Amino acid sequence: MNRSILVVGGGIGGLATAIALRANAGFDVTVIEKHADVHSSVWGVGIIQPANAMRALDAIGCAEACMADGYGATEWGSMYDVDGNLLFDMKATKIEGGDYPAMNGITRPRLHEILTSRALEVGVEIVYSTDFVSLEQGASGVTVHASDGRERRFDLVVGADGVRSVVRNHVLDEELRPYYIGQSAFRVNMPRLPEIDRILLQPGPGGMAGFVPIGKDLAYFFLNIEVERDQRPKGDDVYPALVEKLKGFNGLTGRFRDEFLEEGADIVIRPEESLISPAPWHRGRVVLIGDAVHTVTPHLGQGAAQAIEDGIVLAEELAKNDDFEAAFDAYTERRYERCKLVVDTCLAIAEWEKGKKPGFDNIAATNLVLDTLAQPY
Ligand SMILES: Cc1cc2nc3c(=O)[nH]c(=O)nc-3n(C[C@H](O)[C@H](O)[C@H](O)COP(=O)(O)OP(=O)(O)OC[C@H]3O[C@@H](n4cnc5c(N)ncnc54)[C@H](O)[C@@H]3O)c2cc1C
Repeated sequence: MNRSILVVGGGIGGLATAIALRANAGFDVTVIEKHADVHSSVWGVGIIQPANAMRALDAIGCAEACMADGYGATEWGSMYDVDGNLLFDMKATKIEGGDYPAMNGITRPRLHEILTSRALEVGVEIVYSTDFVSLEQGASGVTVHASDGRERRFDLVVGADGVRSVVRNHVLDEELRPYYIGQSAFRVNMPRLPEIDRILLQPGPGGMAGFVPIGKDLAYFFLNIEVERDQRPKGDDVYPALVEKLKGFNGLTGRFRDEFLEEGADIVIRPEESLISPAPWHRGRVVLIGDAVHTVTPHLGQGAAQAIEDGIVLAEELAKNDDFEAAFDAYTERRYERCKLVVDTCLAIAEWEKGKKPGFDNIAATNLVLDTLAQPY
C-alpha cells in the first residue's frame, strides 16, 4: 500500500528512516528539519559506528561510502591504565549478515552528507528551516502544523526529533523527559597517530579519557567527566578546565595534553542524558524513533546505531503490514529490549566510571552488548 509519511527531524535517525521508508518500502517520504541545511544541524566531532551500525547502513545503501571516508578498525578497542600500560584488549564481534569492520569511525558532517545525498537520490523530499509545531490526528490522516505556517497532511508521522522531541508529547501518555546522568564529555579532533587504530580507553583521576579514529588521518580525543550540569565549563573556561582534568595522566593521554591540546582548539563539551520510554512507542498514526524515545549516552557508541536500526525495522514492518498500528506494535516489540539493554548498560558503565559501582566488569558488559547486537535486529 502506498502511503505518505512525514519524518520530523533530519538527524541521523530521521534521514536513515526516511531512506529505509522510501528505498526499502516504496513510501512517499518528506523530512522536515528545523535547521537551515545539511551542516547546520550537525554538532560535535566524530561518531563511532559499531559493526551493527555498519550492517544497518548497508541496508540503506550507505555503508560503503562511510567506510570509504571513515576509518575501519579491525578490533573494537583496548584499555590502558593511567600510566599507559595495556590492561585489556576488547575483541571484535563477528556480526551476522556481513563482513564489517569492528568499528568504523567517521566525522559527523561527512555522515550527514552521505545520508542526505542518499535520501535525495532515492526520492526523499527534505524541507529545511521548518520547525514542527503540532499535529492533529483524524480517521484518515494527520494534519501537521509547521513554523512556515503551512498545514501538511500525511498518512503517518515519524517523530525523529531527538532528545528534546516535541512529537513525543503527542504520543506518550505521561510527559517523559531525559535526565542528566551527571557526566559530560569533552571532545576535540587531533591527528590520527598510528596507535589510534581502534577505540582506546584510559581511565584516570580526571575521568575516562579515550581516542577514536574517524578518518585515515583524523581522530578525536574525549574525556568523560563527572560534573553537575550547571557547573560545566563554558566559553574561555573550557580549555583550562580540560588541561586541569588531564593533569594526572601519562601514556597517550599525557602525550595528547602536552603535544596536541592547544589553546583556541575547537573543544566541544556535551552533557549526557538518558531516557527510555515503555511501550507503546506510537499513538494512532504517529510513531517515535531514535533519541526521541530512547536517548542513549555515548558509553557504547550506540545511540545513532540504534536510531538507524529503528528506521530499518520500522520500514520492514510497515512494508509487510497494511495495518499500520499492528506494524508499529511489531516495530516496538522488535526494538524495545535491544534499546533497553543499550540504555541500561550505558548507565551502569557511567556509574562505574563515577566510582559508584565497584567490581563492575566493564569489559564483560561491553562484550555482552556487542554480542547481543551482533544478532539480527
Ligand atoms: C557526547 C555524545 C557522543 C555521542 N557519540 C556517539 C557515537 O559515537 N556513536 C553513536 O552511535 N551515537 C553517539 N551519540 C548518540 C547520538 O548522537 C544520538 O543517539 C543520535 O544522534 C540520535 O539520532 P536522532 O536522529 O534520534 O536524533 P538527533 O541526531 O538529535 O536528530 C534530531 C533532529 O531533529 C531536528 N529537530 C528537533 N526538533 C525539531 C522540530 N521541532 N522540527 C523539525 N526538526 C527538529 C534536529 O535539528 C535534529 O536534526 C553520542 C551522543 C553524545 C551526547
